[in-house]
Amino acid sequence: MEAVDPRSLNPAHPRRVVVVGGGYAGLTFVTTLAHRMKVSDDIEIVLVDPRPYQQALSELDLVAAGTPRPQFAELWYADVLRGLPVKVVYDRLESVCPEKDCIEIGPRGGPTVNLTYWRLVLATGALPSVPPVPGLRETAITMWSVADAMDLQRAIEEHFRYGVTLCDPRERTCAISVTVVGAGATGVEIVGTIAARLPPMIKHAGHDPKELTVNLVEGRPDILYDLPEAQRIRARRRLQKMGVNILLGRKLERVEGGVAYLEGGVEVPSPVLVWCGGAHADPDAVQWGLVADNSGRLVCDENLKAQDHAAIYVVGDVAAFRDPATGRVLPMLAQFAIREAEHAAEGVLHEARELPLQPFVPNMHGEFVSIGPRWGVGWMFGLNVSGWFAIVMKRLTYVMYWVQVGSFRLAWKRTLQMLRMRH
Ligand SMILES: Cc1cc2nc3c(=O)[nH]c(=O)nc-3n(C[C@H](O)[C@H](O)[C@H](O)COP(=O)(O)OP(=O)(O)OC[C@H]3O[C@@H](n4cnc5c(N)ncnc54)[C@H](O)[C@@H]3O)c2cc1C
Repeated sequence: MEAVDPRSLNPAHPRRVVVVGGGYAGLTFVTTLAHRMKVSDDIEIVLVDPRPYQQALSELDLVAAGTPRPQFAELWYADVLRGLPVKVVYDRLESVCPEKDCIEIGPRGGPTVNLTYWRLVLATGALPSVPPVPGLRETAITMWSVADAMDLQRAIEEHFRYGVTLCDPRERTCAISVTVVGAGATGVEIVGTIAARLPPMIKHAGHDPKELTVNLVEGRPDILYDLPEAQRIRARRRLQKMGVNILLGRKLERVEGGVAYLEGGVEVPSPVLVWCGGAHADPDAVQWGLVADNSGRLVCDENLKAQDHAAIYVVGDVAAFRDPATGRVLPMLAQFAIREAEHAAEGVLHEARELPLQPFVPNMHGEFVSIGPRWGVGWMFGLNVSGWFAIVMKRLTYVMYWVQVGSFRLAWKRTLQMLRMRH
């Protein structure tokens, strides 16, 4: 790969494929296309992302709390794309001009540079959605980036150092409480990591781990709504065994003075509050002039092309692909982002070779949720799985992704790092 100034690129290149966003979708697209294209396809691949690395968000459960460094979840483009014919522009997309087959890149509101394309792939992902609950935005830590995971580690550390200096045991317990709001897969994974990793740290410092309170708050009547009921029960039992205080059916009303006030007058000491209440499409996307659905995700057809724009593909969390089998828009999941990106890369190759396009058929073979570093729940091929097997399967999905976008070298290096992580 090569980092380039967009002004140095030939504006008249006949087959430039510009990929905006180097997350699960963008990086999969780029590596799939780079591996499968031939010299005769005459394709130039340009990846645009302001960051020099992908944030592997689904790996955050490994590193969100405790001793492992959150930077583990960074996959650096220079490492992953080593030796591949990919040009990288470290900048952001400002706007799309489909009528001129070009995008404008540059800082928000600042000077922009035009970059022409033959095909454009939009893979800009999503952002955490934080509702207007009083006090929430000011106090909550979201869990959508490596920086968020670092913030959480810092906040836990600060409150622990302060909390242990208090003489009153009740006050001490309140000061070192952690609350996770939202019991979907992300919230459950994060609370499981906190409940598994903090007690040994507290014990190591000579304090009583029983003084730590970890809360999981959910407005709906149960956790992990996407999983079969038997798996939800197993997950609840596991969390309770780990000492997590689960509060179901209680919406968050406000956050004030380190306390979360829930429906029904329940007060939960929450000096550290993690918000895992969902995500929405990047609001920038609706300003690019493409058709978006009510949630702001860009509508795409059966070939993953933006509605009314044959030269633009949209993939990953930013795309609203309606599964013809279920009639529902695909959820924001890395596994769909990856499959869409592979399909779009094949689509671009077919177009270059003047072959007909095949419609995208989504499928899901399994889903795994970690609860702490050594236990998980989920399903695969219609069968429920739990315990160490589920966690092995979950970690295997990481390894498969590293092999897919990188190589056996990258996967081997990262697998060793993962296995050596001290919990
Ligand atoms: C904590 C957590 C755990 C998760 N666990 C799982 C899991 O176990 N399994 C699963 O399937 N999914 C999981 N997900 C969901 C999964 O991470 C997302 O579905 C996935 O990241 C979507 O990939 P993407 O490529 O569309 O977006 P992203 O991975 O978010 O990448 C978007 C990229 O676009 C770039 N970008 C954004 N705007 C611009 C712009 N204007 N110009 C240029 N570049 C831009 C960003 O810098 C980023 O690199 C998890 C998510 C979180 C937060």
